[in-house]
Amino acid sequence: MDNKPYRSLNEYYREIFGRKTAKISLDGGFTCPNRDGTCGERGCLFCSAGGSGDFAENAALSITEQVENGKAQTSDKWKDPAYVAYFQAFTNTYAPVEELRRKYEEALSCEGVEGISIATRSDCLPEDVLELLSELNQKTRLWVELGLQTSDEDSARFIRRGYPLSVFEKAVHDLAERDIPVIVHVILGLPNETRETVLNTIDCINRLPVQGIKLQLLHVLSDSDLAEIYENGGYTPLTKEEYISLVGDCIAHLREDIVIHRLTGDGDKNTLLAPLWSLRKRDVLNSLHKYLKDNNIRQGMSVKN
Ligand code: SF4
Repeated sequence: MDNKPYRSLNEYYREIFGRKTAKISLDGGFTCPNRDGTCGERGCLFCSAGGSGDFAENAALSITEQVENGKAQTSDKWKDPAYVAYFQAFTNTYAPVEELRRKYEEALSCEGVEGISIATRSDCLPEDVLELLSELNQKTRLWVELGLQTSDEDSARFIRRGYPLSVFEKAVHDLAERDIPVIVHVILGLPNETRETVLNTIDCINRLPVQGIKLQLLHVLSDSDLAEIYENGGYTPLTKEEYISLVGDCIAHLREDIVIHRLTGDGDKNTLLAPLWSLRKRDVLNSLHKYLKDNNIRQGMSVKN
């Protein structure tokens, strides 16, 4: 581990690419089966109009133009970083396989792009897509990011995720069989979830062949259905102190080898209704690191065997 009490993304990328690595968020122009009527029309309860890709580049631009824009934003910060093209917005395996191939390969052909990370739903990995991913995995660094959010079936129904836990478990095994590293997205602060519910989700991930995790705070965005529940008093967001203590518990309960790709979320300040403290990201991370140090918390110390 580096000087952090958890396996950080920075350390992991340095092991792989040997230098600073920047992720460029892309919008490949895909949609989502939870929005186009295939399994739902209103999307997940918390999902914004941007389909969880509020910070992705502009879908009206080509993939190459988006990558070049992303590179320009990092050029004054880092000299010659490695780049990972991150297909972030909506469901990035939800299209005919030839369209997927074209878009992924365009990203990979951009100068400096040394890897690709593809965010998708566990119910959008049919055999032909798995074959394509397997092929890509032979020629570049590939990660597939699955939006689990929670392992609790009631909670998953409440947020309208659209599939049961078994679908996620199958997706993880299908990817693991092909040696494709999996990053799981988990949301902290979901309505009706307790500390125990969240730690059950961490235990579930520990039992699976998963290589990475993103812990994200639930944001109430003005263009999501959660906003209505929040405005009617039906949802109380976590306080900063509650969030930090919950993240501390997650880190302690998480398998030591799992890379932590994210410890908080980026809410779009133009649409974020709550919690507003999350906009001060540097302050949240500093407080979290202090909390971990003060409480002697390190990753894996409380893993259940
Ligand atoms: S799966 Fe992702 S893009 Fe689709 S509705 Fe849910 S959060 Fe939005």
